[in-house]
Amino acid sequence: TDLVDPHPDPDESAAESALRPTTLAEFDGQPRVSDQLGLVLEAARARNAVPDHVLLSGPPGLGKTTLAGIIAAEMGAPLRISSGPAIQHAGDLAAILSGLTEGEVFFLDEIHRMSRPAEEMLYLAMEDFRVDVVVGKGPGATAIPLDIPQFTLVGATTRAGMLPGPLRDRFGFNAQLDFYDAEALERIVARSGTLIGADLDPSGAVEIASRSRGTPRIANRLLRRVRDYALVRADGRITEAVARAALDLYEVDTLGLDRLDRGVLDAICRKFGGGPVGLSTLAIAVGEETETVEEVAEPFLVRLGFLMRTPRGRVATAAGWRHLGLTPPRQQTT
Ligand code: ATP
Repeated sequence: TDLVDPHPDPDESAAESALRPTTLAEFDGQPRVSDQLGLVLEAARARNAVPDHVLLSGPPGLGKTTLAGIIAAEMGAPLRISSGPAIQHAGDLAAILSGLTEGEVFFLDEIHRMSRPAEEMLYLAMEDFRVDVVVGKGPGATAIPLDIPQFTLVGATTRAGMLPGPLRDRFGFNAQLDFYDAEALERIVARSGTLIGADLDPSGAVEIASRSRGTPRIANRLLRRVRDYALVRADGRITEAVARAALDLYEVDTLGLDRLDRGVLDAICRKFGGGPVGLSTLAIAVGEETETVEEVAEPFLVRLGFLMRTPRGRVATAAGWRHLGLTPPRQQTT
C-alpha cells in the first residue's frame, strides 16, 4: 500500500480507532475549529437542545471522523456513521433517520456523493426533523409525513464547493479543516507514540512529523512503520537517525514525497521536458490510474509549489526540478 496516501486503509481502521482523541481538549492542531465547535456544543448544552448541524470540509485524514466522534462523546450521545455513496435510495436514508434515537449524532461522510432524492429528503429532515415516506408507485403514490427524532447531522466532504447551496445553508456551523503545522503534528505523533507504547525520542517525532504531509493519518501510519523498523533493525528506540533510516527505506523523502510523487515529477521533467503534459498521458507514463495521480500525488505537489495545473496540462516548476536535483531549463520566450 501507499504509505503517504491520505485515504483510509481498511486494514488499519482498528489501529486508527485506538489513536482517536475522544474529547475536544485532546484534539490538537485546529485551534479555530476547536474553539468554535466548543462554543456550539456548550451553547447546546446550556439550552438543553441538540447542537446545530455541523459541516466539516477538508482533505482526507485530517480528523473529520474523529471530530464527529468527539461531538457525540461531548454531548453524551450515540454516534451513527454512514456515507453518501452508501445511501443509494431515499428509502435507505429514511430507514436510518427514523431509526435514530433522540439527540443522536449522525455522521455522513462524503455527503457530496449522495443521490439527488436522498439529498432532498435530507433537507426536510435537517430543517423540520421530518421525512416524507412515499408509499405506492405511479399516480397512486402518496407521501406520508413521518416525524423523526431530533438529531445532529455531521456532514463531511473533501470539497465544500461541490455541495449544492441549499444543503450547505442548512448547516449551522461550517468548519474548514486545514493541514496541520509541524508543531501540532509533532505533538500528535508524541501522543500516538505513548498510546502504542513506542520508545520515541522527541527528535524522532520531529522527523516523522516533518515527512507526514500535514496529515495526522499519515503521521500515525509512518509512526507504526518506524516503530517496526526500530524494533527489528535497531534497539527499539526511535531516534532521529532511526526514523530517517526507516523512512528512507520506505522511500518517503524529507518533504514527505514518496515514489509516486517523485515519479510524477520526474516524468514531467525528464520525459516531457517540464510539460505541459496532459493528465492521462502522465498517468500512463507512471503506470498509475489517473485518479491516483490526480487525487493523491498532485494536490501535494501543487501545495509544495512543485507542479502547476494549467489549461494545457501539468507543468513542473523550477522548485520541482530542483527538488529532483535537476537544473530547471531556461525560461523560454516565444
Ligand atoms: P477521512 O475523511 O478520509 O475518513 P478523516 O478526516 O475523517 O479522514 P480521521 O479518520 O478522523 O480523518 O483521522 C485519521 C487519523 O488521524 C485517526 O487515526 C486519528 O486518530 C488521527 N487524528 C486526526 N486528527 C487528529 C488530531 N487532531 N489529534 C490527534 N489525532 C488525530
